[in-house]
Amino acid sequence: MAKLEYIWLDGYKPTQSLRSKTKIEGDFSGKLEDCPNWSFDGSSTEQAPGGSSDCILKPVFICPDPQRRDAYLVMCEVLDSKGEPHESNGRAHIEDDDNDFWFGFEQEYFLWDPETNKPLGFPVNGYPAPQGPYYCSVGAKNAFGRDIVEEHLDACLDAGLNVEGINAEVAAGQWEFQIFAKGAKEAGDQIWVARYLLERIGEKYGVSINWHCKPLGQLDWNGSGMHANFSNTLLRTVGSEDVYKQILEAFRPVVAEHIAVYGADNDQRLTGKHETASIHDYSYGVSDRGASIRIPLYTKQKGWKGYLEDRRPNSAADPYKVAARIIKTVKSVKI
Ligand code: ADP
Ligand code: MN
Ligand code: MN
Ligand code: MN
Repeated sequence: MAKLEYIWLDGYKPTQSLRSKTKIEGDFSGKLEDCPNWSFDGSSTEQAPGGSSDCILKPVFICPDPQRRDAYLVMCEVLDSKGEPHESNGRAHIEDDDNDFWFGFEQEYFLWDPETNKPLGFPVNGYPAPQGPYYCSVGAKNAFGRDIVEEHLDACLDAGLNVEGINAEVAAGQWEFQIFAKGAKEAGDQIWVARYLLERIGEKYGVSINWHCKPLGQLDWNGSGMHANFSNTLLRTVGSEDVYKQILEAFRPVVAEHIAVYGADNDQRLTGKHETASIHDYSYGVSDRGASIRIPLYTKQKGWKGYLEDRRPNSAADPYKVAARIIKTVKSVKI
């Protein structure tokens, strides 16, 4: 008997959350094509009215569930009762999933204590010492929640997700993991499954995951991003500063379209402070962490062959939508 955890995104706005339930299958092959469609009560997830509540789960990605016996994680798209992609189904609405596009998402998040309603490391009253010592820290004075982070890293690797690294972030209780994948769907699937594993591991420790981009409000604490590093063959091989500029300029007239899918409440985070650019501006620069898009020094040093980092997507953004929008804008440039 195999346990298949069917995972999907609910219909809440502006930020969708993960939902899941377990399906038991006998003689399961472990293959995606042997995962049947399933259904759920969409009236409990803001995806259907009560009188016509069934929505359909269509499996699209599978990996082993490393923390449960005889088990798999099955990422699903949501279809409506007619079998059409539900409007909440960002994955199905990816117009052009071009696997020539590589994405490296840097997912930041806060480990959050539900009792104090504050990040791990924050005292019940007041604040810990100001930002400075926490980024990439070691030691119980500054690093909070490492057990969870380590368990998550192992779980992701055991599941076969392409994690590239982890680090403690600038605020106390804030961490990051990076995932690299080719194509918008694959990158989104991996990020969502990694988020799922983190949420579930947090349960064991009584710690929740705060994905909000500015959970501490307008205090002197960094918000959380999901920087989108991206490249296609052109960016990886062109060797021309001019072509890089043409691509970077293609982002300028579509700032609003990008911000629309870069996560809720991003105006609270993109203030021009705390390593962000203002939401009202569009800028780019080599090695510039105060720009909308950073050109990594590596890209310039390699003679304009490499990748770009869009720093605007936030921690709660849907990676399917972010990746799809980036592909669309880059491909609007005709070289
Ligand atoms: P930062 O210095 O911004 O914190 P990180 O090391 O956290 O950078 O993340 C950099 C990300 O860039 C990694 O996830 C990596 O996979 C990604 N990356 C590296 N090269 C490419 C490339 N050619 N195309 C897309 N992403 C890339
Ligand atoms: Mn990083
Ligand atoms: Mn970071
Ligand atoms: Mn970054």
